[in-house]
Amino acid sequence: MSTRPTILNKLFSPITELKGIGEKLAQLIEKIAGPRIVDLIFHIPNGIIDRRFSPPLAQAPPGRVVTLLVKIIEHRPGATQRQPYRVICEDNTGEITLVFFHAQKDWLQKSLPVGAEKAISGQIEIYNDRLQMTHPDRILPAAELESLKTVEPIYPLTAGLPPKVMLKGIQGAVHLLPQPEEWLNKALVRERGWPVWHDALTTIHAPQSDADLLPTTKARQRLAYDELLASQLALRLMRIHQVKVSCRALKDHGRLRAKATAALPFKLTTSQEKAIADILGDMAGGTRMLRLLQGDVGSGKTAVAAFAMFAAVEAGTQAALMAPTELLARQHFQTLAPLAEAIGIKIDILTGRDKGKPKERLLAELAAGNIDIIIGTHALVQDGVSFKDLGLAVIDEQHRFGVHQRLILRNKGSGVHTLVMTATPIPRTLLLASYGDMDVSRLLEKPAGRQPINTRAIPLDRIEEVIEALHRAVSTKTRIYWVCPLVEESELIDLAAAEDRHNHLVEIFGNKVGLVHGRMKPAEKEKVMAAFRMGDLSILVATTVIEVGVDVPEATIMVIEHADRFGLAQLHQLRGRIGRSDKSSTCLLLYDAKAGEMARARLKIMRETNDGFLIAEEDLRLRGGGEILGTRQSGLPDFRLADLAVHSDLLAIAQSDAKLITETDPGLEGTQGQSLRTLLYLFDRDTAIRFLRSG
Ligand code: ADP
Ligand code: MG
Repeated sequence: MSTRPTILNKLFSPITELKGIGEKLAQLIEKIAGPRIVDLIFHIPNGIIDRRFSPPLAQAPPGRVVTLLVKIIEHRPGATQRQPYRVICEDNTGEITLVFFHAQKDWLQKSLPVGAEKAISGQIEIYNDRLQMTHPDRILPAAELESLKTVEPIYPLTAGLPPKVMLKGIQGAVHLLPQPEEWLNKALVRERGWPVWHDALTTIHAPQSDADLLPTTKARQRLAYDELLASQLALRLMRIHQVKVSCRALKDHGRLRAKATAALPFKLTTSQEKAIADILGDMAGGTRMLRLLQGDVGSGKTAVAAFAMFAAVEAGTQAALMAPTELLARQHFQTLAPLAEAIGIKIDILTGRDKGKPKERLLAELAAGNIDIIIGTHALVQDGVSFKDLGLAVIDEQHRFGVHQRLILRNKGSGVHTLVMTATPIPRTLLLASYGDMDVSRLLEKPAGRQPINTRAIPLDRIEEVIEALHRAVSTKTRIYWVCPLVEESELIDLAAAEDRHNHLVEIFGNKVGLVHGRMKPAEKEKVMAAFRMGDLSILVATTVIEVGVDVPEATIMVIEHADRFGLAQLHQLRGRIGRSDKSSTCLLLYDAKAGEMARARLKIMRETNDGFLIAEEDLRLRGGGEILGTRQSGLPDFRLADLAVHSDLLAIAQSDAKLITETDPGLEGTQGQSLRTLLYLFDRDTAIRFLRSG
């Protein structure tokens, strides 16, 4: 375990250490903020309630939040369980009724005894021409009136979590804030007029106006910068460490490569050749490879990975390929197994499905080095998995995994080269933000002979015509994907829609129609996919489970129902499942005639281009920068305080700052270095610190 600076101990305690937060509430808070006190500290307000206005009742305006000093006159319990409990109050100028639903009588009588004076705060309403307040936010003794008249922050909540609890919890957390030594460059802090860390957080949690909530305040900029610097510094340290562990060179003589080339049913594209040369160069170079292979859907990344793995095997080590889903892992296995057999090496697969004796046997074989290449899912990073000598780790569809899983896999060997693959076109600056100065290879061309996909948009009310037109395709064994609409709210509704469509198509095409969806067990899913691949099924009705990576070259038609509900990137990913052979393909986008302008703009772009990079750019333009940068899908880090759409100038400074720091004090030994260690811990970047120790 890494040793945490003691000054942070309190912040890294569980939130249950805070007064008034028990197990139950902690679970709710954990959902939205996180399990530790530090997570509450970084949970920043998104609104304010101004309780400073304290008028006499006669002047209390409906709709506003006010703080009142009132005398309790009378309790009127509801006549039935359903009727609210009312408490009548007054001041010198008028009367107000406090209204409580599902009230606890005892509690109300105790906290609002008749005759007492109380300070209350909440929103004024008018009901039957009379003033009322439903469930006051606060009820305090009259003497505490002044302390109630403040501006309160509002925090993002989760269902069932009372705002008051969140507020109290965060106030308690802020109270525990230590005052660490400054870790930032003092000149920068001075020049920008930034507060010190402790004060920045105190300010963030005590907004006095809407302007204080903006991402451009000095306090917020300071904190955003801290976060960006922590991420940049961690990336740099990891990178340095990687280079410093001078990695053994994996050299091959192209023996397996020649065999594989002969066994391959196609000729590699120039892009693929180039990427393979980059990778083999890295592996043979004596430093640890960390390379990103970026290529649009269908550009042939798997083949590149295969050649890299063959080289690692020929050099005497093992290789692993990790895919995000079982379906993809099996598909990779099916593609690569014949090739591996042809060149005489041993390949196997490990997923969550493997259990008991067979799994033990597999793990033993892997540990003994009898398996050269292992394909798998997350199961590969489990504790029990060990290699005789892992030389190359390949991670497919990188955005589905965290940096952590990548590191765990890599740490299953000593001196493991890493290749990550993604279809997401990430702009250069963002690439730097997420991965540091990782090397990049791009597959710019599609395999030769590919026919462009003919994409058409058709109104939904012509769906029966579309179905009619499928008869000919089915009779010629053409494979067809039928993608069902996406309903954001509920997976179950998605599913119902897919099942309905499946039933409808079965009525017409009989047993030629299959169904896959996200709720199926991997084994069932795989069975249906296999039938589709073999041609026993002609039409595959699917929810978006087929989005990533599925490869059935015989599929040349795709129907996307309610295409207007999908995002551009997603449509492109989906469409990438067809157009994977030298036969021409057709994509039919069925859209709702009532669809909005944005949806139509997306469909238009889909009709006009097949180019993933162009589509990604248009996507950015249509959605606006902020949104795409924030999404998990894009594979970018989730920042809590930094917002790349606003703070990109800070990112640039953090990048050069991190560079300077690692050049002058690569071990973080100096005074500022020690403080920077605290910063790294604060943002959970302590993995990087562990590197310092072992490097
Ligand atoms: P992705 O980059 O989306 O992972 P895949 O690796 O799944 O793409 O490849 C897509 C399809 O293209 C597969 O069927 C694969 O066999 C085929 N393919 C790959 N490289 C070539 C090539 N050079 N020529 C022809 N087909 C290729
Ligand atoms: Mg792929």
